[in-house]
Amino acid sequence: MYKPSSPYADEFISHQEILDTLADAERESRNPARVAEILEKAALLKGLSHREAAILMECTDPATQERIFSLAADIKQRFYGNRIVLFAPLYLSNYCVNGCVYCPYHAKNKTIPRRKLSQEEIASEVRALIRTGHKRLAVEAGEDPVHNPLEYILDSIKTIYSVNEGGNSIRRVNINIAATDVESYRKLKAAGIGTYILFQETYNKEQYQRLHPTGPKSNYCWHTEAMDRAQEGGCDDVGIGVLFGLAGYKYELVGLLMHAEHLEARFGVGPHTISVPRICPADDISVEDFKDALPDQVFRKLVAVLRVAVPYTGMIVSTRESARMREQLLHCGISQISGGSRTSVGGYTTTERHDETAQFDVSDTRPLDEVVRWLLENDHIPSFCTACYREGRTGDRFMSLCKSGKISLCCTPNALMTLKEYLVDYASPATREAGERLIARSLSDIPEGRIRELTIQHLDEIGHGAHDFRF
Ligand code: SF4
Ligand code: SF4
Repeated sequence: MYKPSSPYADEFISHQEILDTLADAERESRNPARVAEILEKAALLKGLSHREAAILMECTDPATQERIFSLAADIKQRFYGNRIVLFAPLYLSNYCVNGCVYCPYHAKNKTIPRRKLSQEEIASEVRALIRTGHKRLAVEAGEDPVHNPLEYILDSIKTIYSVNEGGNSIRRVNINIAATDVESYRKLKAAGIGTYILFQETYNKEQYQRLHPTGPKSNYCWHTEAMDRAQEGGCDDVGIGVLFGLAGYKYELVGLLMHAEHLEARFGVGPHTISVPRICPADDISVEDFKDALPDQVFRKLVAVLRVAVPYTGMIVSTRESARMREQLLHCGISQISGGSRTSVGGYTTTERHDETAQFDVSDTRPLDEVVRWLLENDHIPSFCTACYREGRTGDRFMSLCKSGKISLCCTPNALMTLKEYLVDYASPATREAGERLIARSLSDIPEGRIRELTIQHLDEIGHGAHDFRF
């Protein structure tokens, strides 16, 4: 039975409801009046239900597809402007007791060197990351109660926040670790995490069980109900996602949206972010093993449909995707990207052999400075903003500001001020020049006179060495 506000995974992600939704989508996508009605609703920028989004995903006629892309671009512009928030992953440990067949860290892979960073090594990695200009990290670790217990993760968070390098530090630590219990989520919240991120991988339970044969993650319900426990433990910004390519993308799209609707129904706040990784090659993993691997064209449309369906949710794409694909996805609604990433344990401080412990191959291998310049040259504002979480704007407080559109009064000035810090502290001369030009042109986009004046004042102060202003 389908019950969006149920605490039970099998009820809020109902397999039957997904099958009914897909059958309905096939029928209704051929009904022009219904499609027009959904597009009209989407234009109100209040989102779509999973049933409506599935119908749009099914439409193949060029006019409807064009309309979906233009709506996604409008929504992106309206809620996120041309700002793109930047972050980097930090891999702490690749020890893992799970058996996920698509991940090289799975317990049975004996060819991969196992490594876990000490607190000193974490501090070195963080210093290296700060020196490239990063302020926001996504911390990643495999699940292993012996090598990576919660205490290790908590110590690591403390270490990361404690590092000061040349007057700068990491300001927001998001955490991507295995599903855990309410008490552990409470401890993570108390340690000052930003978003708790956990990918569902696939919402198709049968496929999930095939792909996760061993380890605690093989328990589909424990994994799928993790965000509920995170909310109960006070982690009110949660990030969801699937690994596209593990099962049919239409099924996954509906599952993702049902999960978002469930969080909204049960806790009054949908997911803070949705990530859209696609299966890609890695040690011991070949894409050919996954018949559902997603072609570029379909992937772009899927991102656009998601953008239209959940306008208030940040959308993240990683360096798994090529620079070319990332540029296209930015126009379809992506609002956060990683940059200058290493997906291996110790990858920011070891220059050699880091690929051997990488979780996946990085397609976009450019250093952060090049990513920043590329964004600037394409008229995006690279943002290192971490203000909301530090100002206590999380969960439903954040969402209500977002829904009212008021959040952008903070986002643009914060983006410009954190970009200015980056330009002063870390940018190459060419990036600095491009950044200064973009800041000068973007000041007029701040609608509120007083905020604009203060921003100009703070930009000047940052130019003279001051740091960390925020709205
Ligand atoms: S996906 Fe995560 S849980 Fe699964 S094997 Fe890889 S690191 Fe472990
Ligand atoms: S002001 Fe808040 S929502 Fe806007 S970019 Fe900064 S952290 Fe994100």
